[in-house]
Amino acid sequence: MLISRAQLARAKKLKLPKLSETEPNTGTVVLDVTAKFGVGIGKLFAPTWQMVMGVKSGEMSLAAYAARYRDIYLAARASGAVQRLFDLTRDCEELILLCFCSDGRFCHTLLLAAWLRQEPH
Ligand SMILES: [Zn+2]
Repeated sequence: MLISRAQLARAKKLKLPKLSETEPNTGTVVLDVTAKFGVGIGKLFAPTWQMVMGVKSGEMSLAAYAARYRDIYLAARASGAVQRLFDLTRDCEELILLCFCSDGRFCHTLLLAAWLRQEPH
């Protein structure tokens, strides 16, 4: 399965189906992993508001943000959320992680996609 990222606004125009946690998923599905709109399993992979605001204001460095986000990822993984995400997307061709960030800029979805690709699944 391909794991990629997209900007939320652009992805919405494509009207791709959201990852369902109750129905089978196939083809390409999108998962919102933003602090603002992330729900369900997506929320478990979202940064905190404090991190988002910290980076925006310049009070938090990107390195500190990445380290905090790694902790969030490891906590989600320890809770079984990574395995559940792979189970939910087992029959999917592509999982697209959504965030507000434009392409080519630092974004937690780039970290998340890279870490998910490294997981055995
Ligand atoms: Zn982002």
